[in-house]
Amino acid sequence: MKKIALEEHFWTEGFPHTGKAGADLFEPWFLRLIDERLGELSELRIAAMDAAGIDVSVLSLISPGVQIERDAARAVSAAQRANDFLAAEIAKHPTRYAGFAHLPMQEPRAAVNELERCITSLGFKGALINGHSNGVYLDDARYLPFWERVAALGVPVYIHPVHMAVRPPVFDDYPGLAASIWGWTAETGGHALRLILSGLFDRFPTLNIILGHMGEMLPFCLWRLDSRFKIYRPKVKLERMPSDYVRRHIYATTAGACQPEALACTIAALGAERVMFSVDYPLEDSLEAARFIEAAPISEPERELICWKNAAKLLRL
Ligand code: MN
Repeated sequence: MKKIALEEHFWTEGFPHTGKAGADLFEPWFLRLIDERLGELSELRIAAMDAAGIDVSVLSLISPGVQIERDAARAVSAAQRANDFLAAEIAKHPTRYAGFAHLPMQEPRAAVNELERCITSLGFKGALINGHSNGVYLDDARYLPFWERVAALGVPVYIHPVHMAVRPPVFDDYPGLAASIWGWTAETGGHALRLILSGLFDRFPTLNIILGHMGEMLPFCLWRLDSRFKIYRPKVKLERMPSDYVRRHIYATTAGACQPEALACTIAALGAERVMFSVDYPLEDSLEAARFIEAAPISEPERELICWKNAAKLLRL
C-alpha cells in the first residue's frame, strides 16, 4: 500500500551528528549504518523508500540540530541554512520528498519569520522541533506569537525527542536508557503534556501536534492522566480534561514502534484518523516498518488512513 512517512531524518554539515555524538554509545554496525545513510539524500534513501512502498518522505534535520545552540544569532542563521539545504534537496526529488521546517526557538521572533518563510516560500508542510531549546519548552509565554502564527498557517508541529536538559540519576550506568530506550519518550511525552496543561489548546483550538513513537506513551495513559489531574492544583484552569486534548490535538506516528499491541492501543485511544505511518529513517528500518503496518491486524480503511490518507490531508500533500 502507498505510504507517506513523516519522521524521516537527514544530516548536513555543521550540525550535531547522532552517530558521531554517540560513538561511545552505539554498536559499531549501527554507527556505520547511521554514518552511511543520515547524510545521504539520493539513491540509498530512495531505494529504501521504494522497497518499503513509501511514496513520500517528509524530511527533517536530525535531533538535536539548532535546539542545543547557545548563541541565538548562530541558531537563526544555522536554521536558515538547514532549511535552504533541505529545500534544494526536495527540488531534486519533488515527488518523493517534502520538508518540515527547522526552527531557531532561541529567538522566538526569528522562529516565527523562519516558519513563515519555510511554509510560504519553500513549500514545507509544517515544522519539526527537537524538543526543548536549552531547557526552554514550547509552553513558555515567549512562544505565544509563534503558536499564533502556526494556527494562522494551519500547519502541524512535530515535537521530536531530544536529551533531557538535566539527566536524572535513574539513567546513570546504562547506555541508551537516557536516550531512545526510555528517556526520550519521558521527555517528549512530558513536553506535550506541558502544552496541554498550559492551556495552549484552549487559546488555539485548531492547533495540531504530532508525536512519534506511538504518541510517546500518551495513548496508554489517558485514564490516569485525567484521574491524577483531578487531585493536583492546576497552574492554569483548563476547559477540558487532559485526555480530551490528547484526542483532539495530537497525532501519533508509528515511527520506531512496530508493535501491534501499541498500535491497537493508539488507534483505540486517538482514533485511526489520528495515527500516521512513519519509519524514523535511518535509525529504524524502512522495510520492517512497512511490513509491520502492512500486516497489522486492522481494517483496510484504517490501514489506508494510517499509511497515507491522514498525512495527505493534514499536510495537504
Ligand atoms: Mn526520530
